[in-house]
Amino acid sequence: MHVLSIHAGYRCQHAGRCCTSNWPIPVEPSHLTRLEDLIARGVVAPTGPAIAAVIREPDGPALLGRDHGRCVFHDTHAAGGCRIQRAAGHEALPLSCRQFPRQSVTDPRGVSVTLSHYCPTARALLSTAGGPVGIVDRTTAFPAHEEYAGLDATASLPPLLHPRCLLEWDAWWLTEALAVRLVDDDPRRGLPRLALAVEHLRTWRPGTVPLRDLVQRAFDVASIAAVAEWDPAADALATHVADALAAVPEEWRPDAGRALATRAAALPDGEVGRFLAAHVFANWSAYTGRGLRTWYRSVEAAGCLVRLTNDPGMVDLVLRHLADSSALITRWSRAETSPVIRRP
Ligand code: SF4
Repeated sequence: MHVLSIHAGYRCQHAGRCCTSNWPIPVEPSHLTRLEDLIARGVVAPTGPAIAAVIREPDGPALLGRDHGRCVFHDTHAAGGCRIQRAAGHEALPLSCRQFPRQSVTDPRGVSVTLSHYCPTARALLSTAGGPVGIVDRTTAFPAHEEYAGLDATASLPPLLHPRCLLEWDAWWLTEALAVRLVDDDPRRGLPRLALAVEHLRTWRPGTVPLRDLVQRAFDVASIAAVAEWDPAADALATHVADALAAVPEEWRPDAGRALATRAAALPDGEVGRFLAAHVFANWSAYTGRGLRTWYRSVEAAGCLVRLTNDPGMVDLVLRHLADSSALITRWSRAETSPVIRRP
């Protein structure tokens, strides 16, 4: 189990964001049977008796009912707002409720989990965390025996360095760890330095230096490179907004547009760095994209959108929840045909 040090103390505080966002909440068949039994026995009751507790679609999963955007099992009880959880425990919740705000990937190293900062409790960790961000591998908040749905790359080949060359697992994990440190160390220069490291790594050819050695070298060089502070041009920001919105299904696009129109007060550099680290780590685009430029581009997207909105929660709402991840990654993969940074 691997998580970022800033997320290691995460505990659900029942903020209720996932229960009140008008999201369809699917219930898997095993949990549906149990839930219907709990309802039939009067152990759990929906808050709005006029609304069906469970909606069965002919060609899709059963969904929990919603009342004005709120799950019909959500209330404002001081012991936590979910009636199912209070009556029958965490295990009785549908999978999507048990996972939020976790975003995980499983590879031969094990499970890696990052968090969506659309959850206010996770968002607060960006402000309150102290010390440098790192990847930690043992934490009581994320026990190994829990279920982590997400991307399963256990039987996959390592991520692509570029469309014609694979990385090695050790080299990828080192890349990820050094990139977390790079963007957290100097948030104003982290992205251009990460771009330099990615372009450096793409120079590797089989039969030359061990790839892991080149990773270390690329990040050593990038971490002291004299780069200007990151200041994306207006057209770069607009491209990232357009890519994000294009990847959101039409019915959710107005919500995504409103989220990206947010203009909050400027964020402290430390929060920006920690937010970028949370997008560097456990990032699906490294596993399913066409190379490290695609992965870089996804981190740059998070950086651009947070530069515009100053609101990590709204950015994660769009990138992690409303957008279709494969559509986003397809768009970011266009980066494989041109350098992500121009060398001076
Ligand atoms: S089932 Fe419980 S945790 Fe899930 S959305 Fe409804 S109120 Fe929230």
